[in-house]
Amino acid sequence: MMADHTDTDARADLIAYLDFHVEAGVDASLDERPHDRFAEAESAAQAPAPRAEARPEPMPRREPLRRDPPESAPTEGSPLDFRRELPSRDAPPREPPRTYGNSAGAKPGEAADDARARAAQMNTLEDLEALLRGFEGCGLRFTAKNLVFADGNPQARVMFVGEAPGADEDRIGKPFMGRSGQLLDRMMAAIGLDRTGAYVSNVVPWRPPGNRNPTPQEISICRPFIERQIELASPDILVCLGAPATQTLTGTKDGILKARGRFYPYRLGDGREIRALATLHPAYLLRQPVQKRLAWRDFRMLKNALDASP
Ligand code: URA
Repeated sequence: MMADHTDTDARADLIAYLDFHVEAGVDASLDERPHDRFAEAESAAQAPAPRAEARPEPMPRREPLRRDPPESAPTEGSPLDFRRELPSRDAPPREPPRTYGNSAGAKPGEAADDARARAAQMNTLEDLEALLRGFEGCGLRFTAKNLVFADGNPQARVMFVGEAPGADEDRIGKPFMGRSGQLLDRMMAAIGLDRTGAYVSNVVPWRPPGNRNPTPQEISICRPFIERQIELASPDILVCLGAPATQTLTGTKDGILKARGRFYPYRLGDGREIRALATLHPAYLLRQPVQKRLAWRDFRMLKNALDASP
């Protein structure tokens, strides 16, 4: 029927419009309508001054964007009903998020402590992944389509850790699937590795909206999870791809061009000390191909270290 068709089109347009904004990094709604603040300020300046006894109208309180239906939820099919489809489409029903990058009402340090305590209780990678699937303490999970936990072989001797998933990884649910991932695969192949002989993950397991950098707060909340993941995978060598992974996991404050090409001691929870090699991120190499020669040096160091202790 014509009317149904138009409704469906309008709804699809609204969803596409919202998807566009989420992709562009918009993660909160401030109002139902746009405001021309310049015009408003001008007409306020021209309006007669209020009489001394007149009390200003209180500002209407804005409702935050809700992820679950409000008490007076719009009825099925009404124009506002699309809100239910805003968060990740495969996510289970959940309580509304409070502050992005933070746990429910918790201060940043508390959220990270909570994450650490929970991660420590997980004794297998499967349990850790399941914990992350249900974890609501990091706001990124509400804008991401999928959790991006790991790819490759968790029994491998080498583990690569990047920063955070991008759009391709978010869609597929696995790390390093896009152009950076293809370059990483070629770099691994150059020293005889592929994902059957390497384990791959990220410091942050959800895509930051619009591919922005994860905030320090988001990194500190996610850090206990990647640290536990490293402990449970227990590789011989960790490869930190780029500055955020290197700084988060080795504690160095150096920029990546200074930090790369070195092994750092990395202590696992059981006391075992492994080595963490810092190198350039493949996304950086795609932008600066001339720097591939540096990455090649680092990958040769990696191969020599693996060959030296088979
Ligand atoms: N960049 C990263 O740091 N990780 C990915 O998984 C993809 C791109």
